Amino acid sequence: MSNLLRSFIEVARDSHFPIQNLPFGVFRAGEGAARVGVAIGEFVLDLSVLEERGLLRFPELQDRRVFSEGALNSFMALGQSAWQRTRSTLQHLLASDTPDLRDDATLREQAFHKQSEVTMQLPARIGDYTDFYSSYHHAHNVGTMLRGPENALMPNWKWLPVGYHGRSSSIVPSGTDVRRPHGQIKPPDADAPIFGPTRSLDYELEMAFFVGPGNDLGQPIPIGHAHEHIFGMVLMNDWSARDVQGWEYQPLGPFLAKNFCTSISPWVVMLEALEPFRRPAPHQDPEPLPYLRPVENATYDIQLEARLQTSTMAEPHVITRSNFQNLYWSMAQQLAHHTVGGCNLQPGDLLASGTISGPTEDSRGCMLELTWRGANPLSLPNGETRKWLDDGDTLSITGWCEGEGYCVGFGEVSGRVLPA
Ligand code: MN
Repeated sequence: MSNLLRSFIEVARDSHFPIQNLPFGVFRAGEGAARVGVAIGEFVLDLSVLEERGLLRFPELQDRRVFSEGALNSFMALGQSAWQRTRSTLQHLLASDTPDLRDDATLREQAFHKQSEVTMQLPARIGDYTDFYSSYHHAHNVGTMLRGPENALMPNWKWLPVGYHGRSSSIVPSGTDVRRPHGQIKPPDADAPIFGPTRSLDYELEMAFFVGPGNDLGQPIPIGHAHEHIFGMVLMNDWSARDVQGWEYQPLGPFLAKNFCTSISPWVVMLEALEPFRRPAPHQDPEPLPYLRPVENATYDIQLEARLQTSTMAEPHVITRSNFQNLYWSMAQQLAHHTVGGCNLQPGDLLASGTISGPTEDSRGCMLELTWRGANPLSLPNGETRKWLDDGDTLSITGWCEGEGYCVGFGEVSGRVLPA
């Protein structure tokens, strides 16, 4: 692979963060203030240092010091031309044959940190968060459990990307423990609900995208322009309390079953880094209404895994193997639908896919489906079984695109369950 772009920073073949990726995140080193960096191999490159040195000065950034801020919102708001110019400048500065950074030991010392020595924060101030329900197989499995196979999908499901407005204040970065929540639970044979810790804590394997430039109230984003408003993508675990959900969800949908915690991965992978992995989206029948009909409907070949490690296991065990291509509705369709009534999105808003399940049993993206609501417990390699997540369990989700000679990855989103 002689023509493959390479960095002077050593990057392992299986690293998620080669020079082809360069995802953006917000980090703290020691007592320092939070600032913006990109991941390269095992390092974080501090963009506030490059900004200070004048190495990231071009008209698209409008003389703003967007990388010295503790969130990506300002950079997200600048739009595609600023993102592309920054990305190409960083690829140039990190390339093996560019001396500016490579040969300046003092600058390198200031600008690079080991990822293992920094603390990652949420990438943005998330104003609003929406969760869709866009995997056919997830919707079909859950619908089959609730209503039987004949009525599995509600009549609207193939006509619009179903979703709900979630809670942004409880979105946390990977590595944050999740406390088992209390709530109202109504056992099937009881006359009245009880109050107590959830007995059916679940994960949901999802991905989510950050909104870049927003839209004005009353001004929908046409589907042909949707991609200009998508900054990049992260992995997401939408922790769920199924017993709480089962009692509370009718008629307005999820509420406390979802709002106690949602975890995301800290590195935001830009759509441009995913471009080599773009694929045609699945065929849609019936044909969607005109406002949801894309010029070119695209998805991405992103391999996804969920791994469970109980407190007695030496290493994690893969319990879900899925792919982003399993989604029926695309990000462009989700964004066009979200705004078609005039709803305004803002930089840093987070729009999530919903559980990404595939057609096979091992591609089911949550315990609800994997154990069929607890009827078929999972068997783990050490002999333990699980119907739902137990205290002390750690659930991690990872995702990556396999390139020729490199890999564009998302790192992971991980969290451990604490007792109620
Ligand atoms: Mn969800």
